[in-house]
Amino acid sequence: MPEYEYLQYEEHDGGQIVRILLDRPDTRNAQNRGLLVELDDAFRRAEADDTCRVIILGGTGPMFSSGHDMGSKQSLDDQQNHPTSKIDGGTREGAERLFIQEWHYYFQNTLRWRNLRKITIAQVQGQTFAAGLMLIWACDLIVASDDAYFADVVGTRLGMCGVEYFAHPWEFGIRKTKELMLTGDAIDAQEAYDLGMVQKIFPVDELSDKTLEYARRIAKTPTMAALLIKESVNQTQDIMGFHNALHACFTMHELNHAHWAWVHTEGQYPVALPDDGVIDWRNPEPMRTTTKDTVTGPEIPRKKKS
Ligand code: ZN
Repeated sequence: MPEYEYLQYEEHDGGQIVRILLDRPDTRNAQNRGLLVELDDAFRRAEADDTCRVIILGGTGPMFSSGHDMGSKQSLDDQQNHPTSKIDGGTREGAERLFIQEWHYYFQNTLRWRNLRKITIAQVQGQTFAAGLMLIWACDLIVASDDAYFADVVGTRLGMCGVEYFAHPWEFGIRKTKELMLTGDAIDAQEAYDLGMVQKIFPVDELSDKTLEYARRIAKTPTMAALLIKESVNQTQDIMGFHNALHACFTMHELNHAHWAWVHTEGQYPVALPDDGVIDWRNPEPMRTTTKDTVTGPEIPRKKKS
């Protein structure tokens, strides 16, 4: 079994099902560069193995993923010293550096995982914020725990127009995306289910077993049929504009970074700061769910770090 620093890699049923778990529970599975590079390797490993039919992507600890790692020591170290920080635009200047780096390590990798030849199932507990959504939206199916919440907070906390892989309108819906992005509010598992974003909801302590059971059911479908079902839907979505819209929105995302870097002429910091009018992400207000009959909905339960 491959050894990873930031992941667990499990094989089930003689390798027919592979489960990859993000394994940085102390950071709520925040995604540092090392984790993302390992994740690409793990997906590629499962993809290459013809025995594997279904890949489950989950996370250890109380929360699937808090998004990109913005501040841990490991993340800051990766930004300076990870081998991939010196290639793929990492040595270029100005907006070009982030444009090419994010293209490879946030955008194209997510798109590559969306287009794997295997069926993928996200197994999601607790809260999934911002770039955590990118990982689950790249999957074909999503199984959530009953304590799951989903939110993209980068509009209200970072002054950004969404994460790099802008699937939001396809997942939340057109107007719902505007509402959620403009308020930073979350939706719960039931609302995600009602939107068609989530396929199953299980009690959190049954999530792991039930997702595996679900994967076993999906794995029975002949591989060629499964692939062509996936591709028929994905190619339809691409013809509807998904592929082009993702690229257009990635470009806007980079424009948004360039804007903040321009505003912060001294620090070149490419996202908004509290002085720019956003919520301080290091000390945020409680997250709330969107509700139809109140301007400000109830707070979602805080998850303790494990
Ligand atoms: Zn970005």
